[in-house]
Amino acid sequence: MRIAIGLDIGGTNTKTILAAEDGRVLSSLQSPTPPVSTSASDRIEELLIKNLQAFLKNEKIKMLLSNASLAGIGIGVAGLIDRENGKIIKSPNIASLEGVHIKEIFEREFDLPVVVENDANAYAYGEKWVGTGKDINSFVVLTLGTGLGGGHIYKGKLYEGPFEIGHIIIEPKGRVCPCGSHGCLESYASGRAIIDRAITSIESGTKSLLVDCCGGNYYKITPELVFQKALDGDSLSREIFREVGHYLGIGISNLINIFSIEAVIIGGGLINAWELFIEELTKEAFKRSFKPYSSTIKILKSTMAKDAGSIGAAGLLFKKISAEQ
Ligand SMILES: [Zn+2]
Repeated sequence: MRIAIGLDIGGTNTKTILAAEDGRVLSSLQSPTPPVSTSASDRIEELLIKNLQAFLKNEKIKMLLSNASLAGIGIGVAGLIDRENGKIIKSPNIASLEGVHIKEIFEREFDLPVVVENDANAYAYGEKWVGTGKDINSFVVLTLGTGLGGGHIYKGKLYEGPFEIGHIIIEPKGRVCPCGSHGCLESYASGRAIIDRAITSIESGTKSLLVDCCGGNYYKITPELVFQKALDGDSLSREIFREVGHYLGIGISNLINIFSIEAVIIGGGLINAWELFIEELTKEAFKRSFKPYSSTIKILKSTMAKDAGSIGAAGLLFKKISAEQ
């Protein structure tokens, strides 16, 4: 049996898995992504390597590997990737990885083939390989987390270009986005957008159950807390999620009109709040998209939100080595 390591390096956490060639996850571990480097000896890439070495030394993992061969390492990273050279060009959430030749460093250290991909692209590949998109030919994946990422599977294959869905413009004079533009989708539909929206409303005097949380320190508000208060019936929190659905729906109608897709799959940590935004999203997406083409398109919830990125990274590694054989 051949096994691949899948790494999904995010701004907050890194997921490490061992996956079999049929996509089964044999072992998985979540650990904090190492903090910003302060000296040459604690460079983030060195710390990531140490973490993986420790993972592989675990008794359970050693046992698994004794009956299998390790095929290589697939790495998904949040950011813009030079996949040819396995280098990270830009990563706003993990700035200390910018400029790092992660492929070369991991290949040298572990003496295994390595493939590097953008994390949302890896997620989309994971959905195609063993997830909700398994039997769908062309679809778009949106990852609704701290930010908003996306990947595109076209005629069964991963589109390898940039796919900055979070930065399409949905409000010409809208909120300022960290990317330097205004009115980007991510500024209206993401974990960060939910927090900003909640704080702005509370500071301007809107009554909400959120006011009594966090000991008056509104900067401690999290998307999970807004979700919880929405379930408790808080009208501001419910309105915030309805707005997320509204703007996601507009973004999705643009995707439907541009790409020849059969489905949109939504994943990421915030899909727990699915019931709070899906009605508005669907209404907006279908109201604005081109008919009758759009009437057959499905909007689906990811069933593999937890591991899709790391599974997809492992899948991309298997794909690379089978192409080379
Ligand atoms: Zn932007």
